Amino acid sequence: MAKIRELDNVLADQIAAGEVIERPASIVKELVENSLDAASQRIDIIVENAGLDSIRVIDDGQGIAADEIELAFKRHATSKIANRRDLFRVRTMGFRGEALPSIASVADVKMTTAQAGTTAGVMIHLRGGETLAKRPASARQGTDVKVTELFFNTPARLKYLKSPHTELARITDIVNRLALANPHVAFSLTHNGKELFRTAGNGKLQQVVAAIYGVQVGRKMLPFIGEDPDFKVDGLVSLPELTRSSRQYITITINHRYVRNFELTKAIINGYRSKLMVGRYPIAVLNIQLDPVLVDVNVHPAKREVRLSKEPQLAKLIADVINRRISQENLIPDVDADQ
Ligand code: ADP
Ligand code: MG
Repeated sequence: MAKIRELDNVLADQIAAGEVIERPASIVKELVENSLDAASQRIDIIVENAGLDSIRVIDDGQGIAADEIELAFKRHATSKIANRRDLFRVRTMGFRGEALPSIASVADVKMTTAQAGTTAGVMIHLRGGETLAKRPASARQGTDVKVTELFFNTPARLKYLKSPHTELARITDIVNRLALANPHVAFSLTHNGKELFRTAGNGKLQQVVAAIYGVQVGRKMLPFIGEDPDFKVDGLVSLPELTRSSRQYITITINHRYVRNFELTKAIINGYRSKLMVGRYPIAVLNIQLDPVLVDVNVHPAKREVRLSKEPQLAKLIADVINRRISQENLIPDVDADQ
């Protein structure tokens, strides 16, 4: 047996990156979530060759102080929680302090950032976990991150990536979900110079749905709202005549975090009772507001899955509220309507 030793930081970051940064879409997710946590009102995402060549995220958020920029790229360095108590009350998307060091350990990263009211911002350039440059830069408030040469030093990861077509579909999917979860933020996604979609950031969920799924779909969505002593739910569900052949068109958010949850997805479908044909699923956006103590987001490194207290109670609320809304419409399902 070899001697036990502590891994150096770059190697430890690369290992951690294996969990959070699987593919270009994971980088997009982490960067956009950072922009959201920085209270950005506008987030522009620009990718080249499905993110394999470059991923750039520009926001107008709070920015990072020049003297903290290096800290931001250290593992377990975060401005979002300070103690154990905070961990059980997180309202931000991030809190693990892992994304930036993970990304910088497996790619080339250039970040320019400035806080409001400063006379100069700062630019930092890292590659494979090493800082190559740091210097004063533009004072435009917000943060601009550009990631290139993804997985240049982890060839196995690079090989595991799917075709650009598939990687782009994953990027589009995550950006769509984040836009649905944050209708007050203006998003744009541009691929190889072509704008794929844009939202206005005016808070109107129906418009975000229209931007993503089309104007026809937007018109056939019913708003719903409901609450019980622990949960508030609202969102949009499609008329029973408007269905899809997969659950992919259901988006669930908890305190603006996009999550995947089988039981809650089932609750939405149950809300339609017998109005859905076998194998058909609605289009839906469900926002859940709850006290953060009721949810454990620290289950999965990418926080896709969360653990909920009182899940059966929440599922019942969702199914009841949606059922009431659908029944009000009192429409007969149309068997092969795909529009
Ligand atoms: P986490 O989001 O879990 O805190 P990250 O590694 O993603 O960890 O980011 C580290 C820190 O860098 C954040 O806590 C935040 O203070 C800062 N940061 C990262 N991205 C941005 C951004 N776009 N705007 C403002 N601050 C940012
Ligand atoms: Mg983060």
